[in-house]
Amino acid sequence: TRILGIETSCDETAAAVIEDAGDAAKILSNVVLSQIEEHAAFGGVVPEIAARAHVEALDGVIEAALAEAGVTLDTVDAVAATAGPGLIGGLIVGLTTAKALAAAAGKPLIPINHLEGHALTARLTDGLEFPYLLLLVSGGHTQIVHVAGVDRYARWASTIDDALGEAFDKTAKLLGLPYPGGPSVEKAASTGNPRRFSFPRPLKGEARPDFSFSGLKTAVRRAATELSPLSDQDVADICASFQRAVTETLSDRVVRSLERFRSEHPDLDTPALVVAGGVAANQAIRAALEELCREHGFRLVAPPIKLCGDNAAMIAWAGMERLKAGLAEDDALSFAPRPRWPLDSSSAPLFGAGK
Ligand code: ATP
Ligand code: MG
Ligand code: FE
Repeated sequence: TRILGIETSCDETAAAVIEDAGDAAKILSNVVLSQIEEHAAFGGVVPEIAARAHVEALDGVIEAALAEAGVTLDTVDAVAATAGPGLIGGLIVGLTTAKALAAAAGKPLIPINHLEGHALTARLTDGLEFPYLLLLVSGGHTQIVHVAGVDRYARWASTIDDALGEAFDKTAKLLGLPYPGGPSVEKAASTGNPRRFSFPRPLKGEARPDFSFSGLKTAVRRAATELSPLSDQDVADICASFQRAVTETLSDRVVRSLERFRSEHPDLDTPALVVAGGVAANQAIRAALEELCREHGFRLVAPPIKLCGDNAAMIAWAGMERLKAGLAEDDALSFAPRPRWPLDSSSAPLFGAGK
């Protein structure tokens, strides 16, 4: 089975081809065209610019993905495309293009929830089996999800305010660091003193399993204002202290769900915690989660960095999983894009019975 995947939900125009190989799959191509330069001057993603950039780039990106894989559209078995959640303009461009290709080639279209792409990546890269616990940390989401199977997602925790990636992006912006914020903050933190500032650990010690990051951002703003004008060392120290607060907060919050997972799956010796989404690229966060897992008898599974951020291989893989699970419907050509689309209600009416 061979799937063409298309991703256009935010500021990456991406296409990929994957092919199954036994239990796993091979990535034949994975083309990601980032729009970083188009948005950098604005310090964040501008929806109109993103939509136009997707229109201009998508055909070429799909051609490149097919060419690099050495295949033609006739030889793929299905086209999978992100149908939400995300910026409506980009979703329309990607989904409409996918519908046109699928209809023209007489192949099924599989609309994919972008979060499902992030959620299932560890099965593509590590052949991980169900069930597992997922920590999804990205630009728009911060959630803990119990993943029992394809389309069997239960949200156990989420942020009550900002997403973690958003906290990184806002922190970078208010410190004058370049967009995208996450990598900039991580880089600056590497030369900073993580103990110079003691930023809050929101919700620390509370029994509820949720996350909160807006207080952290506010504390960063206060520190930055007090010290203004900031030296490079001040910026580095703020970033390092911010990152320390983030890792400690994450560990404190995630442990609630590790305990719950353990009690619901006493039969599993070493259950897996998967970290996914753009923020999963952060080395300090990976190290902290690694440590946490060691302490609690879990193993951490983290995708390779280039599959943490947005890409189409994960969308193609989610399509493959749906196809094999019998969850892909061929009247999907009338599926409308969904700017908002929670993962745990990912069963669209078209996708058969909900769980
Ligand atoms: P979502 O997946 O929630 O719809 P998105 O697709 O925009 O949102 P991703 O592309 O998965 O998000 O992740 C982008 C986010 O990851 C940005 O907020 C970015 O700052 C953050 N990020 C990327 N690299 C790092 C890093 N090294 N450290 C921290 N954050 C990072
Ligand atoms: Mg992005
Ligand atoms: Fe994403």
